[in-house]
Amino acid sequence: MPDHRRLGRELDLFDSDPLMGAGLPYWLPDGAAVRHTLEEYIRGVERRAGYQHVYSPVLGKRELYEISGHWSHYSEDMFPPMDLGGEQVVLRPSLCPHHALIYRSRSHSYRELPLRIAELGTMYRSELSGVLGGLTRVRAIQLNDAHIFCTLDQVADEARAALDLIRAAYAALGIEPVRYRLSLPGEGGKYVVDPAMWQRAAAVLTEVLDQAGVPYESVAGEAAFYGPKIDVQIADSAGREATLSTVQVDFYQPERFDLHYVGPDGAKHRPVMVHRSVIGSVERAVAHLVEKHGGAFPAWLAPTQVVVLPISDAELPPAAALVERCLDQGLRARVVGPEHGSLGARIRVARLVPYQAVVGAKETAADQVAVRLRDGRRLDPLPSGEFLARVRALVDAHGTDLWDDQTQE
Ligand SMILES: [Zn+2]
Repeated sequence: MPDHRRLGRELDLFDSDPLMGAGLPYWLPDGAAVRHTLEEYIRGVERRAGYQHVYSPVLGKRELYEISGHWSHYSEDMFPPMDLGGEQVVLRPSLCPHHALIYRSRSHSYRELPLRIAELGTMYRSELSGVLGGLTRVRAIQLNDAHIFCTLDQVADEARAALDLIRAAYAALGIEPVRYRLSLPGEGGKYVVDPAMWQRAAAVLTEVLDQAGVPYESVAGEAAFYGPKIDVQIADSAGREATLSTVQVDFYQPERFDLHYVGPDGAKHRPVMVHRSVIGSVERAVAHLVEKHGGAFPAWLAPTQVVVLPISDAELPPAAALVERCLDQGLRARVVGPEHGSLGARIRVARLVPYQAVVGAKETAADQVAVRLRDGRRLDPLPSGEFLARVRALVDAHGTDLWDDQTQE
């Protein structure tokens, strides 16, 4: 596997500048297109799974993180507080405290549960070894986060459903986990003390993993400070393992924020919080996708999905018209004309683009395209409208197949 930093620069996906700082990459247009598509895919999947999206600010008062427990258990990973008019504000180390406050801002009946709050939001980590040019050690992290507020009886189903979302996303993205890990607390003072709570939460996650039928290992010392978690592990080009996706059971923060819902008995009850992330941080997910696919992203995710190659200047107008039709279909497309070299040279430059539509005099006269797939396959000339409809259907299917051979003549 190639290193994502080299490919990211070569493919104009992302870069960094010493003046912005180490661990603070920026996204170029092609990288931004991949990221936007990934984020929209996640939002769509979450909407269909009953999640509601919110926005919350990236700063909070120090007191908020004292209540959540981050201040006493996680402060070495947090940026120092800023003094502002006699108050201290902090760049948030996670989204959980904000979502707990959003839950708490309204009263909830048991009938509303499970209540699933999702946000693709930024959080910050005072990473001392932030690497210039990389997406894996960053100080500002765009997290695909969600918190499910539910009853104890609902926890296992919610954790199982989250695991299903993760597995579906991996299939769409062409990612294979190296292993599933049940992350438990270890020695030392970084975990909140409540043995009964840890046991109960770990029992639920063990049940979910056993029922999912995936092999997993239990590892001590990898839990969140507030609870155990299922971590889905991936490996980078150097073989280093990292957590991409996670499902966590938390009895602690509902207690700290005094969250409740009104039960069928009319009394107040404490909900459980399930924290989950389908693709983890967008930065780490894209870094992994770049390495995994060597820049040849699944068609639905590719920065340019269709490149239109006119054979000569005479076909520039029909080529531009075909790009317009692609854009109207919501596809990302561009023309690479003869001024960029011979047809062979242009095909080589566009080798990572899934669909290369060659337009000559013959195709123009018949409103057809001669399509070349990224893997080298050549399709028989087909009507432009059919080509567009089939690419659109493949993109909508969010799969890794380049072409649907079953319907091909
Ligand atoms: Zn959380």
